[in-house]
Amino acid sequence: MIKENDLLLTRPSWITVNLDAIKQNAQTMLKYTGAKRLIGVVKANAYGHGDLAVSEALYEVGVHDFAVATIDEGVTLRQSFINKDVRIILLGVQDVSQVSVMVSNQLEPAVGTLKWLQEAVSMIPAGENLALQLAVDTGMGRMGVNSESELKRLYEFINANDKLLLSGVFTHFATADDGNQNYYHSQVQKFNKWVQAVGIPRKFWHLANSGSALWHTREIDTNTIRVGSVLYGFNPGAPLLSLPMALKPALTLKSKIGSVHQLQAGESVSYGATYTAQVPQWVATLPIGYADGYLRRMTGMKVLVDGHIEHVIGRVTMDQIVITLAHQYPVGQEVTLIGRDGDEEITIEDFAHYADTIPHEIVTIFGSRLPRVYE
Ligand SMILES: *Cc1c(COP(=O)(O)O)cnc(C)c1O
Repeated sequence: MIKENDLLLTRPSWITVNLDAIKQNAQTMLKYTGAKRLIGVVKANAYGHGDLAVSEALYEVGVHDFAVATIDEGVTLRQSFINKDVRIILLGVQDVSQVSVMVSNQLEPAVGTLKWLQEAVSMIPAGENLALQLAVDTGMGRMGVNSESELKRLYEFINANDKLLLSGVFTHFATADDGNQNYYHSQVQKFNKWVQAVGIPRKFWHLANSGSALWHTREIDTNTIRVGSVLYGFNPGAPLLSLPMALKPALTLKSKIGSVHQLQAGESVSYGATYTAQVPQWVATLPIGYADGYLRRMTGMKVLVDGHIEHVIGRVTMDQIVITLAHQYPVGQEVTLIGRDGDEEITIEDFAHYADTIPHEIVTIFGSRLPRVYE
């Protein structure tokens, strides 16, 4: 297998990740919310930015708590932080049969049923214990206890069992970044009421995802925030809500022209021959396609060449796209697909809007064929 950096030579389409931007965004969010602790959400390869590089950068600015979705992601992260005082939370539902892996890698699962805890206890090796996060479902409907009495049963079970250690209690909001205040408030009320009635101390609470940290800081406890999107510098509420402060985008997507040719009037481009030149025109082929996450529906999207706007023409294919050119450019000319070039910028939000989806989906579908270059 060719090493990641050599991929740049063999096929020049790549993602750059600005780690300083991620560090700055973490600090901006801590300041903006007044939080004492930030849990860096680095699931799905840190939203496509590279989980190890991102978590190391965050560690340098004092982030020692991370959240991932799967055991596999957690084990990889633990290996890179071996012997470091780092907390790793598993946000998804985990198979209880994997308890010994969680114990030996110090991974803290989110737990929402008594049955899971009862089964887990019998699998924790003698002399060891499992730290865990109590998941409270106040309206997301994915996982977690969904009543005060259930929360009480789990909390008491944990306290009565010295193999189990409570490390946190959290809920997740369904409408933090879409402006639905009523639903948001009903979730806040349930969480506060249940957790206080059961008597779980505040130091364990973490509620704020990115949307909450941006638009609901005064409505919830923000001593600890649990954020992903904002670290990477995109607006999770785009295009509906705007950011209350500036964040720095961390990701750019670039490619280099692989071939340049002139279409004659009447000649067409790509599958279906959907684009036909009306007059002679210069076009270029770039080595990126939908298998890299440059979605098939991006036909017509803007790209930036030499500081000005060009467009994707014809159908996006699995490995290649064709773009317009104002005039002939050399092979090897850099093209910006997401990012800034001179006075022009294509943001992840622009890209997602054009693709009729959210920025989160765009950054997480960029494939492993695109090397990540860190700056
Ligand atoms: C993914 C996830 C987050 C991070 O969400 P952002 O909106 O990107 O900040 C936080 N909490 C849970 C439970 C999640 O699944």
